[in-house]
Amino acid sequence: MTPLPRLAVFDLDYTLWPFWVDTHVDPPFHKSSDGTVRDRMGQDIRLYPEVPQVLDRLQSLGVPIAAASRTGEIDGANQLLELFDLVKYFVHREIYPGSKVAHFERLRHKTGVPFSQMIFFDDEKRNIIDVGKLGVTCIHIQNGINLQTLTQGLETFAKTQAGS
Ligand SMILES: [Mg+2]
Repeated sequence: MTPLPRLAVFDLDYTLWPFWVDTHVDPPFHKSSDGTVRDRMGQDIRLYPEVPQVLDRLQSLGVPIAAASRTGEIDGANQLLELFDLVKYFVHREIYPGSKVAHFERLRHKTGVPFSQMIFFDDEKRNIIDVGKLGVTCIHIQNGINLQTLTQGLETFAKTQAGS
């Protein structure tokens, strides 16, 4: 049986959606009558297209999911997760500025899952480096999360377990 992580953690900006929520868009957000999420200026806001499927896949595998973001736009980020109906997937949301090491220390404390049993997806190299030092399997992503990257990440995680 392929070993699965006991916690999957996702960055938000440029991992779940293609913008920085603190600078590229204007909160507050709302859902239009046609179901489109828009910002204060009426700009369309979208996720990377496979995000719901990625989170569904993990949920069906029984892997709990958390968010870890360094954004200063805490309300806006949480509002987007609500408007996109993603809150139901996340057992924990750590959204505040600072080193991501702090976010992961809190996740370990809250879940009891050791770093070696976590997988983390992020687009920024500095976060990958910082969190990787903790012993978390870190997957550096480009162009947002998708099903292929998820599958490759889970394979990478399984190899770390085989080698330990
Ligand atoms: Mg990011």
